[in-house]
Amino acid sequence: MLNIVLFGPPGAGKGTQSERLIARYNLVHLSTGDIFRANIKGETELGLLAKSYMDQGNLVPDEVTINMLKSEVLKQENAKGFIFDGFPRTNAQAQALDTFLASINTEITRMIGLEVAENELRERLKKRAEVSGRPDDANPDVIQNRINVYKNETAPVKDYYQKQEKYIAVDGIGSIDDISDRLFAAIDHI
Ligand code: AMP
Repeated sequence: MLNIVLFGPPGAGKGTQSERLIARYNLVHLSTGDIFRANIKGETELGLLAKSYMDQGNLVPDEVTINMLKSEVLKQENAKGFIFDGFPRTNAQAQALDTFLASINTEITRMIGLEVAENELRERLKKRAEVSGRPDDANPDVIQNRINVYKNETAPVKDYYQKQEKYIAVDGIGSIDDISDRLFAAIDHI
């Protein structure tokens, strides 16, 4: 299996690039943010819980997120591999993912980090707010909190995979096509 964690701060382009990667490598895309948003739309219990955290730009608690992720993976019996987008976002999630994947006889192949400077992220999120309809894109304080949460809680996950010699950095600045080409080159060289 090819299991890629697509990593990076909010606004790095993970969602856009995930679409390109699943098409080229025939993988299943699992975006925890998208799954939470679908649950909010469907007014499920999980959605209601997640919304209270997401609207503030805080992380949904690990246990809830990990259990949801596991059940989504298990639904995909014939998957050739996964693009994990927006997960893991804490070291506890990364550890739980390793343990879970080992239990189904697979593992993370690589984490690929889209590296984008903070001022560029802010500009991109401001633009995205005009079209995304996401409440967490609309408020500058919430955007700042998401960037802070990324720095404090999520950035250490890079070290977690670096220690396993699985981290690859990709420059996330440029045209969407150029960045896709960099990602394809990185994956084709694994
Ligand atoms: P995203 O679509 O990846 O930007 O995620 C939007 C929001 O969903 C985040 O700000 C969190 O509130 C929540 N979320 C998504 N993925 C996770 C995760 N792995 N752990 C905790 N919360 C998450």
